[in-house]
Amino acid sequence: MASSMVRPTQRPALRGVGRALLLTTPMALWALLMMTPRLRAEHDAVTLTAALAVVVFMTALFYKMLRTGETYRWRRIFFVALGLLFPVGFLSSLIALRGSMSIPIEHIVAGDTPFCFMVTPMLLIPAALTKTLIFPGSILATPTNPHSIAVMIGLWGALTLVLGKAWCSYACFFGGIEEGVAAVAKRPRIRKIDARFRMVPWAVLLVTVLLSAALFEPFYCTWLCPFKTVTEFFEVRNVTTALQFVVFVSLFAGLVVVLPFLTKKRTQCGFFCPFGAFQSLFNKINIFEIRVDRAQCVDCGACQRACPTMAITAESVREGKVHLNCMKCGACVDACKKDAALWHVKGTSLMARPERARLLFLYGAWAMATMFGGSVLAGSLVALWHLVARG
Ligand code: SF4
Ligand code: SF4
Repeated sequence: MASSMVRPTQRPALRGVGRALLLTTPMALWALLMMTPRLRAEHDAVTLTAALAVVVFMTALFYKMLRTGETYRWRRIFFVALGLLFPVGFLSSLIALRGSMSIPIEHIVAGDTPFCFMVTPMLLIPAALTKTLIFPGSILATPTNPHSIAVMIGLWGALTLVLGKAWCSYACFFGGIEEGVAAVAKRPRIRKIDARFRMVPWAVLLVTVLLSAALFEPFYCTWLCPFKTVTEFFEVRNVTTALQFVVFVSLFAGLVVVLPFLTKKRTQCGFFCPFGAFQSLFNKINIFEIRVDRAQCVDCGACQRACPTMAITAESVREGKVHLNCMKCGACVDACKKDAALWHVKGTSLMARPERARLLFLYGAWAMATMFGGSVLAGSLVALWHLVARG
């Protein structure tokens, strides 16, 4: 059996600076390439500085991941920055366009609503049955709505092919907000959480997909999305829109702020988000996964305590694997002192160099994070600068 062989360590703190630098070079060039349109097209110092800062930021974090052998800590710095800065850039551009973060009904009718990838699963049944997209945005980008349906679905599709469910820890700016809040708490106030809560997002997905098809509107978007609180929402004009506003803010306060602080888990992502459940399905076709080498594992539970979404449980560890909702954040691997939790490429031997599997995954994940998140970060930094400069 492969598991009785000597496996190369996946803790390359032993790896030399030169090798880590060499392996980082392609990612540095990729980051430069991604920022090239900004570096070329913009001539103001703020935009140039923001683009260069993003290149340095993404490259330095990638280098640290290679040099230390740790994934979670360095990825989290990027991810939290993305989560916190995204609303700044997004809201600044909305306010510049409309003067407000609420969408008046006239703008919805005109198709000026930015498309949100979270709506994707809710579009499928109505689109298949009636060839209608039940979202009030425009299919192609317009001067007043660059986040069109085609642009956002194209981006989501490309990222999902490469990342699978890892979308939720390398691309979803909403998750970064929760992860930031969870990081603030020194220790969890609530430690015991029933692992069956991780099934709730599947139920929410089923209900929202069916209700969206029945009501012919994206139900999660109109009634349940906590992130409306930091992006955009319907203009409050009557009892219904007032009620929606209260629901959005309450869910945000509970699932994105209070519970992550108390549990140090990503409670919205792990225990509610229907899009997260939908994204889990793509783990089936993604070639990267986390496995547990039973020959090394001492059942200490450190991986389970570290996991932000309870995707690894005592039961899954006994079977040498993680659950379908694993978002490949790497926290369990980093927490395992026995090198039993491993990065793995499906179809290869468990012993086949886990660090190489991690490296392969990281090249894809970080390239996507730089392409998508990097441009969000650069735009948001510029918006932040102008906000601060205006006082
Ligand atoms: S942290 Fe490592 S040794 Fe401990 S239970 Fe998890 S896989 Fe096993
Ligand atoms: S199982 Fe490991 S990699 Fe997957 S979400 Fe949990 S901590 Fe992250």
